[in-house]
Amino acid sequence: MTAARLLIIGPQGSGKGTQGVRIAEALGIPAISTGDVFRANVAGGTPLGLKVKAIIEAGDLVPDELTSEIVRDRLTQDDAGVGFLLDGYPRNLGQVGDLDTFLDARDQPLTAVIELAVPREESIRRLSLRAAEQGRSDDNAESIAKRLSIYESETAPILDVYRERGIVDEVDGVGSLDDVYARIVAALDARGIAASDASASSAPSV
Ligand code: AMP
Repeated sequence: MTAARLLIIGPQGSGKGTQGVRIAEALGIPAISTGDVFRANVAGGTPLGLKVKAIIEAGDLVPDELTSEIVRDRLTQDDAGVGFLLDGYPRNLGQVGDLDTFLDARDQPLTAVIELAVPREESIRRLSLRAAEQGRSDDNAESIAKRLSIYESETAPILDVYRERGIVDEVDGVGSLDDVYARIVAALDARGIAASDASASSAPSV
């Protein structure tokens, strides 16, 4: 049995947040989303929230130092000792280096990276739907375009680093929530990370 130290990665609108929460629940590990942490702080008007609000609304990246510090703090908490699923971090090569330094020192490298593959047009379609449904302040046309372009230029290249380590599973992100979930479970299963007892049909929808 391989420890579940996971990263889920995919363009905005790929469904990685939803799938990440579901997989993490099935594995009994925390799902750690930097986007959620930032949004909660913005909503709560905390000092961190005030610092990052304008950056997030513009669709830019929060500085690496700040982001990596938040993730290190979170990964040091007890519940992350058995494993964790990162969503939205690392997002560029600098953050990959920060995370490596932290995990290598603990001798706990990532064990699998799930790449949710979704074509750009599909991402844009889903993000526009989400904008209408959830009213997220960064789901406006300008911010969406910027976030997708940052994904392509800064985030997608980190997959090459992880591919070289042989830990990337590309999963087709187009299909129903259950179908995509089942593909992720199968990919993890093949690595000895057992989420299979929570089959796609019996897992709760989130
Ligand atoms: P997300 O929900 O992952 O799309 O994140 C929403 C926003 O939070 C992003 O557009 C960034 O402004 C910020 N953010 C989230 N994760 C990171 C990260 N790893 N590095 C820098 N900024 C981030």
